[in-house]
Amino acid sequence: MPGKWMRIFQAKAAKLNRGDSWRLEFDDSIVPNKPPFGWKQCQRGGFARFSCSKCRRSWPSGRAMVVFHMRLTGRQGTVKVRPLRQNCKECSDAPMEKAHFSPTDINVLLDHLMEKIGVKFYNEMPAKKEYKEHFKRELNGPHEASHCEACKQGVCTWRKRGF
Ligand SMILES: [Zn+2]
Ligand SMILES: [Zn+2]
Repeated sequence: MPGKWMRIFQAKAAKLNRGDSWRLEFDDSIVPNKPPFGWKQCQRGGFARFSCSKCRRSWPSGRAMVVFHMRLTGRQGTVKVRPLRQNCKECSDAPMEKAHFSPTDINVLLDHLMEKIGVKFYNEMPAKKEYKEHFKRELNGPHEASHCEACKQGVCTWRKRGF
């Protein structure tokens, strides 16, 4: 899976066209809402599928949370990414499972990330509101809070918006 992310990320990072190089790293040790000193955070819920390694059941989620920590030192930008996991609601003691994102879903997440990089590091204006509203609506739907790692850590957009 990381290969897909890297390719899409590199194509978008090239379009920033600021003379800095950016790289993306997967890092499961980053803590939501606690970026280390000098790092900035962006988080986003997106579409993904999960599948249970116990019963093989799979389920879609419109709130697969992804946390990004990012930093620019000199001309080198680094983004660390951690997709949060979910577990099966049918199995007892079901293990937390990794999210599987389609290229389309990765695109949406990384577009949001690039917008944040523009705003936080290059003083660009945030994108227009209608664009954001569109994605908010898309993400409405049922959600199993007790099976969502982001909910457990208090960072899920589902919880923040109160339904
Ligand atoms: Zn299961
Ligand atoms: Zn959640």
